Amino acid sequence: MRRLMTFAVACVLALAVVPSAQQPDALKAAADALGAAKINTLQYTGSGANFSVGQNFTPNEPWPRVTVKNYTASINYGTGSMRQELLREMGPVMPRGGGAPFTGEQRQILVVRGSDAWNVPAPPPGAPAGGGRGPGGAPPAAPQPAAAVERMLALWATPQGFVKAAMANNATSRKATGGTEVSFTVGGKYTMTGILNAQNQVARVQTWIDQPIVGDMLVETTYTGYKDFGGVMFPSHIVQKQDGFPSLDLTIASVTANPAVGITVPDNVRGAQPPPVRVDSAKLADGVYYLTGGTHHSLVVEMKDHIVLVDTPNDAPRALAVIAKTKEVVPNKPIRYIVTSHHHWDHLGGIRSAIDEGATIVTHQTNKAFLERVAKTPHTINPDRLSTSKKAVKIQTVGDMAKLTDGTRTIELYNLTGYEHTRDMLVVYLPKEKILAEPDAFTPPATPATPLATSAVPYAAALYDNIQRRKLDVKTIAPFHGGRMTDVPELAKAAGKSSTVTQ
Ligand SMILES: [Zn+2]
Repeated sequence: MRRLMTFAVACVLALAVVPSAQQPDALKAAADALGAAKINTLQYTGSGANFSVGQNFTPNEPWPRVTVKNYTASINYGTGSMRQELLREMGPVMPRGGGAPFTGEQRQILVVRGSDAWNVPAPPPGAPAGGGRGPGGAPPAAPQPAAAVERMLALWATPQGFVKAAMANNATSRKATGGTEVSFTVGGKYTMTGILNAQNQVARVQTWIDQPIVGDMLVETTYTGYKDFGGVMFPSHIVQKQDGFPSLDLTIASVTANPAVGITVPDNVRGAQPPPVRVDSAKLADGVYYLTGGTHHSLVVEMKDHIVLVDTPNDAPRALAVIAKTKEVVPNKPIRYIVTSHHHWDHLGGIRSAIDEGATIVTHQTNKAFLERVAKTPHTINPDRLSTSKKAVKIQTVGDMAKLTDGTRTIELYNLTGYEHTRDMLVVYLPKEKILAEPDAFTPPATPATPLATSAVPYAAALYDNIQRRKLDVKTIAPFHGGRMTDVPELAKAAGKSSTVTQ
C-alpha cells in the first residue's frame, strides 16, 4: 500500500509541473492532436459490455459478457481521480460461466483517487437519486483497496491520460509496428507502453497488474475510430482485454472536456487496508473440518498418513492461512492433495501457494494446461513464494469422477453435468459421513424462507439432478459460500423440485 501511495503522489506531483521540452517528438505531436495540455477533466459516456474476468466456462473461453446499457467515466487528471458509473443489464438467462448472479438492471459506481479505491453502493429502492452519503442517504462507500492499482492504471491509460503520464514520467520512444512505441514506469514497478499512430493518436496502451493466479497480467486497451467530439479528439470504440480476453467493450456516445469533476475520498475509505484474513474451523465429523471465516470456505479431510484439502481460495494470504489452519486442526501429517473445485479465479486464487506447498493438485482434466501455465507465469510485480521456490506443479486430473482413498476413508469427486456455471466443477462427497461439499451451485440464503435469485435456480437444479442421478445419499451439504449448512430437501425446494431423497 505504501508503494501505491508513493505512486499516486508521484503522479499527481509530476503532473502539476509543466512537462520539460525533452519529450519524444511523437509524444508532443500526440499531446497537440489530443489537446492533452488543455484537458484537466474529462467525461465520456457510452454503452456496450463488460465481462466477468476469471469466470469463463472453461479456461480457453472468453470471459462471460454482461450488457452495459450506460457507461460514464468522469476523470480529474489533476487529482488523479476517476469515477466509472455502469448500468448493467442481465438478460433472461445468465451468460454461460460465472460472475455474481443478478437479475434485471444493476448499477455500479467504481471510484479511485490516488491510492484509495472504493465502490459507491446503490441507494436503497425509493431513495432519492444522487448517491448522497449524508445521514439517511445511501449506505457508506465500500473500500476496495485491492482495486486501486487497476483503476489508477486505467485512468492513466485513457488517451489524454496516457500522454500526460508519459510526459510526466520521462517516457522513452522507439519505432514499432503501427507507429511509435512510448514506454515509461509509474510507481517504480508498473510499466505502461503505448502505440502512437501516424495520426498522432493513442492507438493502444498496455499495462501489467498483479493477479494472484496468472501473475503479471496484461491489461491491453485498444482505441479506434477517433473523431472530433465537440472539440475533443477521442476514440469512438474502446476495447480492453485482460489476460487475452475482452473485459470491456464500449462504443462512445459523447465526450465533454473540462466539466466539473470533484471526487473526494470518503473518511471510511482513506487509507483503508484489506480486512485481516480470518480462518475459523468447525469439525463436521471425525477428521473432517470445515474452514470458514471469509467469503470462500474450504474443507479438510484427514486420511491415514496425509491430509486432503479442498480449495485454497481468494489469494495467497488466504491460502497460506487456510494451509496453516489445516496443519493446526490435523497436526503432523503432510497435505498431500489439494483439490481445486473449479478454475474460477475467486476459488483458485491461492493455487500457487498450494503448488508451493508441494501438494498434488487434483483438478478436472479441462484445467490441466491452464494450471501448467499458472505454475510458470512470471510474478515480478508482487512476487509470491512459488516465484522463488519454482516448484514444479504435480497434477492429478479427474474426468467424470474419481476416488481418493487410504483404505479406510474414501473421498469421491464428481464432475457436475448440465451445469452452466462452469465445465469443470468437482463436488466432494464423503460416503461414510454422507457429507457433500460444493461451491457456487447452491448457497443457501440466510433464512430458509428466502427464495433464491432466479438466475441461481438452474444451478441448484443441476446440483440436485446430479445428486439424484448418481444416487448419492447426502445428509449434509457444506456449501463453500454463505453462513450455514443445508440439506437435500432445502436444495430441492430452492431448485423447484419435489424432494425425493435417495436412500
Ligand atoms: Zn465459480
